[in-house]
Amino acid sequence: MISRSIAHILKGETLSVGKIEVKQPLPTTRVDQISPFLLLHHFGPASAEPGEDPLGLGAHPHRGFEPVTFLYSGGIRHKDSRGNEGILTGGDVQWMTAGMGIIHSEMASKAFLETGGVIEGIQLWVNLPQRYKMVHPRYQDIKHSEMPVILEDNDKVKLTLVAGDFRGAKGPAQTFTPILAIKADLKAGGKTFVEIPEHFNALAYILSGEIQVSSGFNYKSETLLHFKNDGEGFHLQANKDSQVLILAGEPIDEPVTQWGPFVMNTQTEIMQAMRDYQMGKMGVYVD
Ligand code: MN
Repeated sequence: MISRSIAHILKGETLSVGKIEVKQPLPTTRVDQISPFLLLHHFGPASAEPGEDPLGLGAHPHRGFEPVTFLYSGGIRHKDSRGNEGILTGGDVQWMTAGMGIIHSEMASKAFLETGGVIEGIQLWVNLPQRYKMVHPRYQDIKHSEMPVILEDNDKVKLTLVAGDFRGAKGPAQTFTPILAIKADLKAGGKTFVEIPEHFNALAYILSGEIQVSSGFNYKSETLLHFKNDGEGFHLQANKDSQVLILAGEPIDEPVTQWGPFVMNTQTEIMQAMRDYQMGKMGVYVD
């Protein structure tokens, strides 16, 4: 198998979103997107006392893309202007299509508020091509138990398939363009080769631990590796117990215009999104 080489090694810049500190390795000043992936935020791990909401993301709108949450630990309550409400716990994934517009909040769940604990996750923004930007919003609440698990290398490698086709299995998340999303848990010494279709853009984000890829260099946690489209996939080998989020997808070859929570193709569409939001066309959020 031919390994892809590395295009960029991106370290997360630290910033605050709501009440929580996040690392943002995408976008950066060097790389504005890895199409179709626009943004990656690693929030936490952050500990909270009982009664304390470490997230506190009040109602805010989105249009033109898909905000996806991979929750690693803790509990989140999602509620939106389209009548959806859901509870995520560690291991669950929320794949939301903002489409023509949605207003939602992301707060600590009631159960988490009662016990306190550690919250950690990834928020990913997946772009939509022009023909799907104004689709009706969709909410997919994917429980940990629904995702196929692939074990290899004497169970030292555990791959949990969230989206896409991989080694004959199919991830439960439905996507508008071909995407592969895999959560990889590797024990020290575990290794695998992750096959990726050659025309997909690909990245691996290291949440914890330390890994080597084909090049033999070591990469520490909170690093995003962006691969070139020059091979059939990439090797992953863990120096320590590690958690890696693998993302790959068919690039969307269209102009991207972003303003805050709206991602469209043109400035005119952004102005329209702002007007539609003000006029209540993204639904009504009631808490
Ligand atoms: Mn949001």
